[in-house]
Amino acid sequence: TGLVVAIDGPSGSGKSSTSRGVAVRLGLRYLDTGAMFRAMTWWMLRQGVDVHDAAAVAARVGEPEIVSGTDPSAPTITVDGTDVATAIRGEDVTGAVSPVSVVPEVRARLLQLQRAVIAAAPGGIVVEGRDIGSVVAPDAPVKVYLTADPAARALRRAAEEGGSDVSATQESLLARDKIDSGRATAPLVMADGAVHIDTTPFTLDEVIGLVVALVEA
Ligand code: C5P
Repeated sequence: TGLVVAIDGPSGSGKSSTSRGVAVRLGLRYLDTGAMFRAMTWWMLRQGVDVHDAAAVAARVGEPEIVSGTDPSAPTITVDGTDVATAIRGEDVTGAVSPVSVVPEVRARLLQLQRAVIAAAPGGIVVEGRDIGSVVAPDAPVKVYLTADPAARALRRAAEEGGSDVSATQESLLARDKIDSGRATAPLVMADGAVHIDTTPFTLDEVIGLVVALVEA
C-alpha cells in the first residue's frame, strides 16, 4: 500500500471537505468511512431491521454489497448497485447510524471493506472517519485529529444540510459525539501519533494547507 493519510474527528469538524481537498491537491484517492456506516444503516432501515437490536443487525451484516468510489472530486457510494449518496444524508439514517456503528460485526465487516479499498489504492489515499488512525490504519505515516467548537460545527453542518435549524443540529451532533466517544468498540479517540488541529479559527483552504504541509514534511 502507498501513503495513507488518516483523518479522524467528530462530525462537522471539517473532516470531509479537508480530506477531499487534501486528496485533490496531492493526487491521492479518498475514502469516507462514515458513508459506509451510513450505507449499512440505510440498508438495515430499508430491510425493516430494528437498529436497536444488535443481534438482529449482526445477523444481516453480510448481506448488502457496499461499494465506495474513491475519486475525491466525485465520491460515490452504492448499495447493491443503488446510488445512495443522497439517501444516506437523510435524518432517518443520521438518527440510526450510531447504534448500528457500535455493533462489532458491523465494524468487522466494514473494516474488511475499508482495508480492501486502501490496498487497492497503491498511489496513496486519504481516509476519513472516527477510528482510522487507531484501528483501520494504525501504521499510517500521517494522522490528523480535527476538532472545532460545537457552535462552528453546527453552523457548517446545518448549512451543508441546506439550512437545517442550527440549535437542533448542534444537539444532534453532541448526542452522536457522546455515543461515538463512549462506546466500547472503536471509540472516537485521538490516535497515537496524531496531530491535533482545531479548525475553528481557520478557513478550509488554510486547514487543507496545514495537512498538506504535514504530508510533505
Ligand atoms: O462521518 P459521519 O458523520 O458521516 O459518520 C456517521 C457515523 O458513522 C458516526 O456518527 C459514527 O457513529 C459512525 N462512524 C464510525 N466509524 C467511522 C466513521 C463513522 O463509527 N470510522
